[in-house]
Amino acid sequence: MTIQASETVTDGQLFIHGKSLPAATGETRAVMNPATEEVICRVAWGTVADLDQAVSAAQGAFDSGAWPGLTFKERGKLLLRIADAIEEHAEELALLESLDVGKPITFTRGFDVPAAADLFRYYGGMVETLEGAARPAGHRSMSYTRREPLGVVGLITPFNFPLNLAVNKIAPALAAGNTVVHKPAEQTPLSTLRLAEIMFEAGLPAGVFNVVTGDGSTVGARLAEHPGIRKLAFTGSTAVGKRLAATAADTLKRVTLELGGKGANIVFADADLDAATQWAFQAAFFNTGQFCMSGPRLLVQRPVYDEMVERMAAQADAVPVGDPLDPQTILGPLAHRAQLDRVAEYVSIARAEGAKLRAGGSAGIAGQPDARGFYFQPTVFSDVTPQMRIAREEVFGPVLTITPFDTDDEAVAIANSSPFGLAAGLHTSSLRRAHQVAARLEAGIVWINSWAMFENTTSFGGYKESGYGRELGPEGIEEYLQVKTIVVNTE
Ligand code: NAD
Repeated sequence: MTIQASETVTDGQLFIHGKSLPAATGETRAVMNPATEEVICRVAWGTVADLDQAVSAAQGAFDSGAWPGLTFKERGKLLLRIADAIEEHAEELALLESLDVGKPITFTRGFDVPAAADLFRYYGGMVETLEGAARPAGHRSMSYTRREPLGVVGLITPFNFPLNLAVNKIAPALAAGNTVVHKPAEQTPLSTLRLAEIMFEAGLPAGVFNVVTGDGSTVGARLAEHPGIRKLAFTGSTAVGKRLAATAADTLKRVTLELGGKGANIVFADADLDAATQWAFQAAFFNTGQFCMSGPRLLVQRPVYDEMVERMAAQADAVPVGDPLDPQTILGPLAHRAQLDRVAEYVSIARAEGAKLRAGGSAGIAGQPDARGFYFQPTVFSDVTPQMRIAREEVFGPVLTITPFDTDDEAVAIANSSPFGLAAGLHTSSLRRAHQVAARLEAGIVWINSWAMFENTTSFGGYKESGYGRELGPEGIEEYLQVKTIVVNTE
């Protein structure tokens, strides 16, 4: 699969055992550009038979030692070479991601692709540090531990960060010595399919990384039940995650679940309001709000509440929305039509619940009635109570709700009233308050006077119904390793 300067994309195929293949049934599906509603290309549409073939290829690569049998140095070097290869194809991958997802090119060039390369480098460098431990075990024996790969791991990813959420799993899984079968989201498979080719061309042995596109309910469900898969790493909705955990229990495969979120972002009256406004905007609207770790619930202390409502509405009205390939664009369209319908429905619900519309509220781009694409205006609601559905349920779109509070205790109680617990944030000039409140928030990651600052080392994951397991950082690779203890008789 390639992309030409004219932005035409060749059709995609499954990637199994180092080869691009059609689906066994010959079926293909159209992939759409959400900014134009035009078909970009077609991709092979896999079924359970294709998935089973991919698992066999990955099992073969594991059992033969083609990957886990490499020395740590060889394995690490290959991951570094993959990082270089991603950088060599950076412009192509950034364009593919922007065309497929509707992400502004400024972000795919500046974040998605460089972050993917960096993460291969980070985990590639970690391979040689995977030490075991020598332990005294009484006067007649000693023991030592080995940290071993699990075998074939299955990955399932959503549509919103196709490249990054895949690489968050692929890089540590491979660094730990596992082989992989990946099912990308139905709507956005292009960057992963291209990544598979790039990794193979960089020298990854056949069968170590395989991609099968297809429906979640068939191909994805088969990954969860397949007895040959030793671990399932899933990112997606809480509803699907719960179902997968139940299915995976039959074979007792390990599961990590990165699920939905509804982050609370707290602005105290002593905060730097200029900075808080910028961070709060990014928290709510980055990636057109299709960001699991977004902060769509803005909680504002009453003395600065009216001012923050005005500031957020003004920002929403002013942000450049439009063509993702225009470097000036900050917000692109939603990634697919069902997303647009979902956002429109939640905006109607919020209005019916009595929330006050302060900005946006309609599909399309303000002032461009003829624009095509799955656009929704950045939308701000004030006077939102914690009980409203718009404040409780995940919208996954460009919709911010603003709720007033009086005391620190009240802010913490509202923030923690959500069933989700993925991300949270707070803005204050008091060091003591910052750390006290951060410790009380039920979320896997808390940002103080910022939002969504990430490094390779910043591990994240869910509390409560946002899932379990961690990605990134040293914790990220532990999810793909198991410990063996070997005991030596010293008598
Ligand atoms: P989704 O759950 O509908 O789909 C995610 C993936 O699961 C897709 O590949 C899909 O094909 C597959 N799938 C669907 N049904 C399946 C089934 N029955 N068995 C196996 N696989 C199945 O989610 P989505 O709409 O693509 O993504 C949005 C959701 O993902 C939001 O809830 C968002 O918060 C969440 N998300 C979480 C994180 C995180 O890190 N916690 C990151 C991004 C997105």
